[in-house]
Amino acid sequence: MTERSFVAIKPDGVERKLTGEIIKRIEQKGFKMVAMKFIKPSQELAEEHYGEHKEKPFYKGLVEFITSGPVVAMVWEGKDVIATIRKMVGVTDPLKSDPGTIRGDFGISIGRNIIHASDKLESAKKEISLWFSQDELVEYTPTLDKWIYEN
Ligand code: GDP
Ligand code: MG
Repeated sequence: MTERSFVAIKPDGVERKLTGEIIKRIEQKGFKMVAMKFIKPSQELAEEHYGEHKEKPFYKGLVEFITSGPVVAMVWEGKDVIATIRKMVGVTDPLKSDPGTIRGDFGISIGRNIIHASDKLESAKKEISLWFSQDELVEYTPTLDKWIYEN
């Protein structure tokens, strides 16, 4: 099976009506959506998702922020999808993100950087199983794939 990445549009991205724009970019790149849900994350889910940052000074605010409103949680599949979506997202600080990236085009503050995307295979696996159950991951073969992949 090809690689999968977990992507979430954070509450600021949803409030700012960037959901369609972000999905459009990933879809038009050629990646395949495998799952999507619109949820207000629980405290427990948020703490687990950002567990690696538990000791950081911004952790409490980050968890408060991510639980403050609805999030669009998604799984995307495709060749090199993890590294490629990270490039499309831009670096963590939107003021340092290149123009053309999601954070570079739409954000200013590090604590309001619009989107989360898995950074490596191991985190993608962990995040996908944290946010989605196995039966929410939809299996299908897009007919357009032969126009996106050479083989
Ligand atoms: P990401 O993988 O690019 O999202 O960045 P990290 O995994 O390093 O951090 C997770 C999230 O914590 C980031 O997307 C930011 O929203 C937030 N964050 C990271 N560093 C800082 C910081 O220095 N200050 C604040 N306020 N938030 C931060
Ligand atoms: Mg990260």
